[in-house]
Amino acid sequence: MVTEKKINVQDFDVVVVGSGFSGAIFARELAEKHNKKVLVVEKRPHIAGNMYDEYNEHGILVQQYGPHFFNTDKAWVLEFLKKYCELIPHAVTGRSEIDGKYVQLPYNFQTIQDLLPLNEAEELYKLMREEFSGEDRVSIFSLLESKNKKIHDFAELLYEKAFKPYTMKQWNLTTEQIDKSVLNRVKFALNFDSRYLNKDFQYLPKHGFTKLFESMLNHQNIKIICDCDALAHISIIEDTAYYDGEYVESIVYTGPIDELFNREFGILPYRSLEFTYESVKTTEHLLPSDFVSYPQTNTFTRKTEYRRFNYEITGQEYTTIAAEHPLEYNPDGQVGNVPYYPTITSDNLKLLKKYQIKADSINNLILVGRLAEYKYFNMDLIIENAFHKFELCKERFGWLNK
Ligand code: UDP
Repeated sequence: MVTEKKINVQDFDVVVVGSGFSGAIFARELAEKHNKKVLVVEKRPHIAGNMYDEYNEHGILVQQYGPHFFNTDKAWVLEFLKKYCELIPHAVTGRSEIDGKYVQLPYNFQTIQDLLPLNEAEELYKLMREEFSGEDRVSIFSLLESKNKKIHDFAELLYEKAFKPYTMKQWNLTTEQIDKSVLNRVKFALNFDSRYLNKDFQYLPKHGFTKLFESMLNHQNIKIICDCDALAHISIIEDTAYYDGEYVESIVYTGPIDELFNREFGILPYRSLEFTYESVKTTEHLLPSDFVSYPQTNTFTRKTEYRRFNYEITGQEYTTIAAEHPLEYNPDGQVGNVPYYPTITSDNLKLLKKYQIKADSINNLILVGRLAEYKYFNMDLIIENAFHKFELCKERFGWLNK
């Protein structure tokens, strides 16, 4: 990897804006398989986007932009990651604090037992098994729609105590305003499966995600420039995008789509997070699981105890817990200036369409990833999506294999 400031864009075939998964996959594929000279332009002082992690003063590897765990059902996605890092099996564990008690997350039969007397809980398992026979996990909305009063009432309890307040805090929107797909990410398990996600392959990179990205971007055809806001260098004239006024074969953009066009149709909202940290000298774990969600607290939504899943260095004397505080994204703000989540509502999707039409009219522009496509992708889907988009671009731009 070469990181340098003085860049002549004419030395490159492709400019990639952003070094998260989407940008890094495009850069690597272009450099390795198509012999393209790639310039990666990163706004922040480090690579890896929101996957970035680093060791704190207590020797704990902390994911600076919130907890990320790798889950997939696709063996090929796993094989791809294995090329760049050593993986350790790790199925993420969660709890949710409801009425002062840690209950099982994913919400499942254990959660019912955590909240109701055992005889009522056992009756509910039976009723749910009958009603949703053959299903593994269902959405909270399916439970709410149940004609069975006991199932409906339990769903209502969970909805009122967990989904509604958590969603309000996370998005500053009601559960009616945010798209149902967002709440559907947290399914109810119709069993005692305590894995947060029921995917076949669940791993963490032993040496952290940043190392994985260093390895992916380490190629003679790739140059990285950090601390550089590409938007100050990109200009769009009619159907062509330019970098420093020069034509490049393609610009792969992974940042927020509205900012690329100077927000000319209006602000497309993204949600941001700020973190507060607490480190305590102890050999015990302070949280009952890797992370805990807090629907009923005032400001923070979630806490993560990183030492629970540190694998490179073990036996640290301290444990570090990060609390997440959601807020609106503002690129010019002192706080909240990192975009994390697209805010999926019907109005925002209409606004997105306008930007997409504009983006489609630009011949050498490729938009890829969570921020540029305004999709709430998980890590595995980000990877799948980047490869899928790459295949489409091969045809569109005539990129030939080396
Ligand atoms: N959610 C909830 N209660 C929880 C956890 C999640 O109601 O304890 C809802 C909430 O609307 C949240 C969404 O599910 O925004 C997605 O949560 P997820 O854990 O997938 O968020 P991420 O890990 O992407 O931050």
